[in-house]
Amino acid sequence: MRYSAMQLIRQGISGAPWEPAWRTPELAASYDAVVIGGGGHGLAAAYYLRAVQGVKRVAVLERGWIGGGNTGRNTTIVRSNYFFPESAAMYDFALRLYEGLSEALNYNIMLSQRGVLNLAHSEHDFDLMRRSVNAMLLNGIDVELLSAAQVQREVDLLNFAPDARFPIHGGFVQRRGGVARHDAVAWAYARAASALGVDVIQGCEVTGFVREGDRVVGVETSLGRVSAGVVGMSVAGHSGVLAGMAGFRLPITSYALQAMVSEPLKPILNTVVMSTATGMYVSQSDKGELVFGQGLDLYPSYGQRGNLPVAQTIVASMLEMFPAFRRLKMLRQWAGVVDVCWDYSPIIGPSPAPGLFMNCGWGTGGFKASPVGGWLLARSMATGGHHELSRPFDLGRFTSGRLVDEAAGAGIAH
Ligand SMILES: Cc1cc2nc3c(=O)[nH]c(=O)nc-3n(C[C@H](O)[C@H](O)[C@H](O)COP(=O)(O)OP(=O)(O)OC[C@H]3O[C@@H](n4cnc5c(N)ncnc54)[C@H](O)[C@@H]3O)c2cc1C
Repeated sequence: MRYSAMQLIRQGISGAPWEPAWRTPELAASYDAVVIGGGGHGLAAAYYLRAVQGVKRVAVLERGWIGGGNTGRNTTIVRSNYFFPESAAMYDFALRLYEGLSEALNYNIMLSQRGVLNLAHSEHDFDLMRRSVNAMLLNGIDVELLSAAQVQREVDLLNFAPDARFPIHGGFVQRRGGVARHDAVAWAYARAASALGVDVIQGCEVTGFVREGDRVVGVETSLGRVSAGVVGMSVAGHSGVLAGMAGFRLPITSYALQAMVSEPLKPILNTVVMSTATGMYVSQSDKGELVFGQGLDLYPSYGQRGNLPVAQTIVASMLEMFPAFRRLKMLRQWAGVVDVCWDYSPIIGPSPAPGLFMNCGWGTGGFKASPVGGWLLARSMATGGHHELSRPFDLGRFTSGRLVDEAAGAGIAH
């Protein structure tokens, strides 16, 4: 069924129930390609395997429900303002895919390019920001450096008092950045993939790999054994667990990353505000809630909760910058388990186990990359090698030492 205004009217008049957005098939005994993990990346990979790479029998295996991992827990910021040319090229490709995604998948992902504004809290911060902005401009990214007065014109709710704990010395904005609806991204890919014949299997946990010699030729699952021509994994915080099952280790640590929302308000904040030095960021959802967060809980964990001291730091940072939000009530707080690489860049491409391909290490900022992560994983699974965009993100960079150190480069967490 094609979604359209006319279809909405037809359904409304007829009172007929909507067709399910995707099929609920039985797990088959074999596929040409199996993708583990039904988050945005895994679902996108399955879609592009079928739609772009022409692979015929494809399945996505999700142990819970699709989009129930970090895809449904993130704060939905999309942007491509990265420092290194290889990162900027990849994230900007993702942003361009996002810009056409509602149309391409016939599903409103509610992309709102309201801008992402980063703040500098000292002259030193602002100097570094100038350097980053110059690098981003050379990378072809649409960023603008803003003086303190220009920042104030953009967001006058910020604390510009002379004694502010985090004084504002300037900032920079990427106007094409913004937010998109996270669930809709997962659902859009699932629906489009399912319509092309991809089996989206929920409640199916991968518990091991089937090997012929060194080669991965299938997976063991809670619903039985499945053989596969090629296997891809897109399991975010559980990448280390899956790699362990396949017999290798990854330079990845899993942490809880938390976020929270306030009670809903009338429209009050029309952009995404980020503080590079503190890591705090806030935006206003379409429902009116303020959505905000900061950095990682600073110890490895698989708990999807988040600890209280970090929650307090997040709230305190936000209130220092937005004193007007002081009397708001908190509505919800949660966390996801994110997969952080040592250089804060992802790992994409062939794994040490032949037949198994990886898409992981997106850490605190992989929602914005869901389309490109899926696109590149699909490409790698179909060809056995790399696209030029994924080559710099091969696992081999940890042995060659050619890291893409975005933590030191762009220094922005999300
Ligand atoms: C609080 C928070 C805020 C964030 N904010 C942003 C942001 O503003 N912008 C941004 O770009 N990114 C953000 N991120 C990061 C972003 O959410 C992730 O990088 C991204 O969603 C990862 O997508 P994914 O599809 O790889 O993983 P997930 O969505 O986590 O999907 C992986 C799936 O694999 C499944 N799985 C795991 N093990 C198995 C198994 N053995 N068998 C079968 N299935 C399995 C899981 O159940 C899960 O559904 C944030 C993350 C969090 C937690």
